[in-house]
Amino acid sequence: MVNPRQALRPDDALLIVDVQSDFCPGGALPIDRGDDVVPVLNQWVAAAVDSRVPVFASRDWHPRQHLSFKESGGDWPVHCVQDTVGAQFHPRLTLPDSAIVITKGTRFDRDQYSAFDETGLASELRKRGVRRVWVGGLAQDVCVRATVLDACREGFETIVIADATRPVTPADGERAIEEMRHAGARVESTSGTS
Ligand SMILES: [Zn+2]
Repeated sequence: MVNPRQALRPDDALLIVDVQSDFCPGGALPIDRGDDVVPVLNQWVAAAVDSRVPVFASRDWHPRQHLSFKESGGDWPVHCVQDTVGAQFHPRLTLPDSAIVITKGTRFDRDQYSAFDETGLASELRKRGVRRVWVGGLAQDVCVRATVLDACREGFETIVIADATRPVTPADGERAIEEMRHAGARVESTSGTS
């Protein structure tokens, strides 16, 4: 268990993956209790702001008729279409004005699950002197998994905030946690702060 206010170092970044309305209950591709991550991440955001740790937030941001949609032969229902309400960050996620938004899923020729996938994120983090990333968001077994595996591959010390993620299915979530651990990520959960 880690307390965000004690855990964050100057060479950290907080990376919030795809906490968008479509991935939460009531959205187009809802993850069971996906919105449970919001209050946890809000504690991390508050601590990051106080510690001057940069906050990065990725968003899935698909063009209409994206190839990842079932109607186009893909795996997923239509979700996170650019400029729709469902593509917005969850309304209770308290992103600071200083948050840096990473847009992905915009390519016509293939999907991008990872926030590092041709977004320039790794070089941006290095430019800012970041050596360690704390990762939470949605979904644990899809875009969080891909982002964490890439963060490890890019040489960042990587910590998954387990209680700030939710899986599409519990079994895939457990598998993803094992895979992320195997890749070198640490898995922690948040202790109460106040
Ligand atoms: Zn998507």
